[in-house]
Amino acid sequence: MADTKKDKILGVKGMNDILPDDAPLWELFENTVQSVLRSYGYQQIRTPIIEPTALFARGLGEVTDIVEKEMYSFTDSMNGDHLTLRPECTAGVVRSVLEHNLTYDAPKRLWYAGPMFRHERPQRGRYRQFHQVGAEAVGFSGPDIDAELILLCQRLWDDLGLADIRLEINSIGDAAERNRHRADLIAYFEQHIDQLDTEAGRRLHSNPLRILDTKNPAMQELVNNAPRLLDYLGDESRAHFEGVQRFLNHNNVRFTINPRLVRGMDYYNRTVFEWVTDQLGAQGTVCGGGRYDPLVEIFGGKPTPAVGFAMGVERVLELMKASGGSFARSQCDVYVVHQGEAAQMQACVLAERIRDAGLDVVLHCAAAGGAGSFKSQMKRADASGAAFAVILGDDEIARGEATLKHLRAADMANNQQAIAIADLVDHLIDQIVGGDDHEHGHLHAGHYPTHH
Ligand code: ATP
Ligand code: MG
Repeated sequence: MADTKKDKILGVKGMNDILPDDAPLWELFENTVQSVLRSYGYQQIRTPIIEPTALFARGLGEVTDIVEKEMYSFTDSMNGDHLTLRPECTAGVVRSVLEHNLTYDAPKRLWYAGPMFRHERPQRGRYRQFHQVGAEAVGFSGPDIDAELILLCQRLWDDLGLADIRLEINSIGDAAERNRHRADLIAYFEQHIDQLDTEAGRRLHSNPLRILDTKNPAMQELVNNAPRLLDYLGDESRAHFEGVQRFLNHNNVRFTINPRLVRGMDYYNRTVFEWVTDQLGAQGTVCGGGRYDPLVEIFGGKPTPAVGFAMGVERVLELMKASGGSFARSQCDVYVVHQGEAAQMQACVLAERIRDAGLDVVLHCAAAGGAGSFKSQMKRADASGAAFAVILGDDEIARGEATLKHLRAADMANNQQAIAIADLVDHLIDQIVGGDDHEHGHLHAGHYPTHH
């Protein structure tokens, strides 16, 4: 049917556009993340956004928030395959590691970044498409690598200037230890069955550990007094947990032990950790991670220890904004305006030469009403945040000259001069890179205003 009404089509609820004004913030975050991960020797891996539904059902556990109610799953209408938009990336990374036998010669330090999809109720810090950055260390067994991942996060917060994120850690032991604890936990909850909410009641026999993770305020007292998994750890689990703490202490990383910290997915064992803040309201967890030694075997590989974390990028960015910095960035170093036909062609050629020299240039181009008056072009030049406008008119071109206007000069009465076109590029480089106008320079990728 013809779409004659021309109503606006809006984006999907809970899935956000990242608009140009926010792009500098995202780029600053992404560049910082990349350099921190590289400084620990982590290599990037990029897996598809769509995976077989079975990957998540098997990997995350059937009785998890994600698999029970948050997955965007669909049937491929071409061939009937059951597919899911990835709700997280650990399962995909482990699948890929196995499929390509990446750990055949040595353990691997990997990281990823990208959009994830969960059908949740959208609210501040909780979206249906959101972004995660995560790292997975596959094939490492000791507490040293658990601590490394935590140190890496700490370095990232420091580099981003984020001070109000605290670390909580716990150990959830191994399967046998959890089973012993589980029996006592179920017995405890059964004694207080009247205090369980519906969700907890449903999980009592399928996944009682997850009840400890409840966000229901009415159940906090109950879960606080529940048997602590920490008291059920055997010697090896205890030694591993103490090892992690020793590495953290020797590096002056502050943490608290939260015996109720369990993490959402079934595949975790031993070390679990979360980075939390009080500045984001209810959505206070910015990063969660832990050890998941059983997962590779669950996916059909030979037993391979592994540990990783995932952080919610939107939540970290909100913290960065709350830290009070300004992340605005100018569009270019130089804005080129022109009047007249010959000038327009010359302006295009000149803009290319200035870019050859490494500067960022916006060339004024015709919009619906034409190139616009000189005055309106200069308004655009100013709004671009450029340090300089280069002005070309047919008369000036005839003299082989351009006018250079310093848009941010202290002395606005005396801020423009005629310069031979042949000398213009050298002059600009001198002014922007060489001279005391350094801070306007955009010569290097990742040249951002500092926000500390
Ligand atoms: P929560 O308890 O907040 O639902 P989670 O345990 O489901 O978190 P993980 O699966 O561990 O979260 O994902 C790691 C991080 O990804 C979270 O700590 C959070 O910062 C971020 N995150 C998770 N779900 C969302 C979402 N729907 N929107 C934005 N960020 C999210
Ligand atoms: Mg969740």
